[in-house]
Amino acid sequence: MSDLRDLYQEVILDHSKKPRNCRKLEGPSCSAKGHNPLCGDRITVYANVKDGVIQDLSFEGAGCAISTASASMMTESLKGKSVADVKALFDTFHALVTEEKPPKGVSLGKLEAFAGVREFPMRVKCATLAWHTLNAALENRGEPVSTE
Ligand code: ZN
Repeated sequence: MSDLRDLYQEVILDHSKKPRNCRKLEGPSCSAKGHNPLCGDRITVYANVKDGVIQDLSFEGAGCAISTASASMMTESLKGKSVADVKALFDTFHALVTEEKPPKGVSLGKLEAFAGVREFPMRVKCATLAWHTLNAALENRGEPVSTE
């Protein structure tokens, strides 16, 4: 676990210990399941979308600290955003955790705490699982998402 200490910023630790929006939504307009076999993370993302805007967003699952914190911070950040905003944020977040240079474009706010993940390629899938799963939910794909 020593490699993880560097990447655990306080905000990530806080969210992994006390995940926000960690509950099932009753009657969500869409949902999807995701699985990261590399680490064993499993997640279900629920969303209520009305007029192209995310009214409510939650998740359930069992995973490592990074995947839990990422799901928690994602749900907190994206409530009230339009589906188009979510796609732009996902692209920027993905660039943040995979590319050398800081991504340009939309501001990620607190989500920038995940920048350290790019030093740990094994953890990239943990950090992006919730996002891939939300994307699948928004696109209403029925099949479960796997990061493999
Ligand atoms: Zn993980």
